[in-house]
Amino acid sequence: MITLRRAADLRACCDDARRAGRTVALVPTMGLFHDGHRSLMRAARADADLVVVSLFVNPTQFGPDEDLDGYPRDPDGDTAVAAAEGVDVVFLPPVDELYPDEPRTIVHVAGLTARLCGASRPTHFDGVATIVTKLFSIVGPCRAYFGRKDAQQLAVIRRVVEDLNLPVDVVGCPLVREPDGLARSSRNAYLTPDERAAATVLWRALSAAAGAIRTGERDAAILEALVVSTIGAEPGVRLDYAELVDAHTIEPAARVDGDLILAVAAFIGRTRLIDNLAITAIGAEVDIDLGVVAEEQTA
Ligand code: AMP
Repeated sequence: MITLRRAADLRACCDDARRAGRTVALVPTMGLFHDGHRSLMRAARADADLVVVSLFVNPTQFGPDEDLDGYPRDPDGDTAVAAAEGVDVVFLPPVDELYPDEPRTIVHVAGLTARLCGASRPTHFDGVATIVTKLFSIVGPCRAYFGRKDAQQLAVIRRVVEDLNLPVDVVGCPLVREPDGLARSSRNAYLTPDERAAATVLWRALSAAAGAIRTGERDAAILEALVVSTIGAEPGVRLDYAELVDAHTIEPAARVDGDLILAVAAFIGRTRLIDNLAITAIGAEVDIDLGVVAEEQTA
């Protein structure tokens, strides 16, 4: 495995690979690797000849009062994890390599970014769409792997690729959970033991909604109210949103019908966590994707 810090070196490496007939996979991350990141690396490793993992805490996707400076970082530990997962290239650029100057060109995806995380983090998805477009531009034609944990982000990136005709195949990968249901997140590192116990309420709320859907509930307002009341009953947890939306447009859905996300965000103390269920409902057939448990990943 090699570590590259310069965009030109990464571009040359990917160009060389493709010239030699090899396929390229990209896994964009902000580091502090956990089983969610590992699962993306494994999917990439299984599919492609050259696996590139980018490790960059992207300043432009953090709001002015957010946790950019305190965001947990462990580049040495992450490099070791990537090597153990058979990654070929870790791209670890300094901030001024990707942002030598205040960027004047921003990738803004209208509509899809207005609700959910976009409502409470108004500049977040501009930062995400811009950095991912830059990475796609540097790496070139590839398959790129993203987790369904960040379901709105996945919809935004798919739309960027479509709208800008980028030569990238976007692959959505399962949401990875802890054995007690908490979605894996680098931000879980912020939680105190009490907060960590309370944080499972997101999973409990989504599980209650999944149970209601399985027994025939189709009304979005009733499902959202169930999530709101479950989270409201947990001391120290403040709901940000609970919404049933279309998985592609992120527009509100009135009923369980089509490709949907039941998305939730909440503050556990000062830490904001997100989670979701992916729901596909065609007529009476309903499939609910709860994600996978981390142990299955590491086994
Ligand atoms: P991050 O480092 O948090 O920006 O995440 C990098 C990638 O890992 C994104 O595509 C995330 O969706 C994905 N990811 C983060 N947590 C999980 C998880 N629990 N399960 C699956 N993918 C995840």
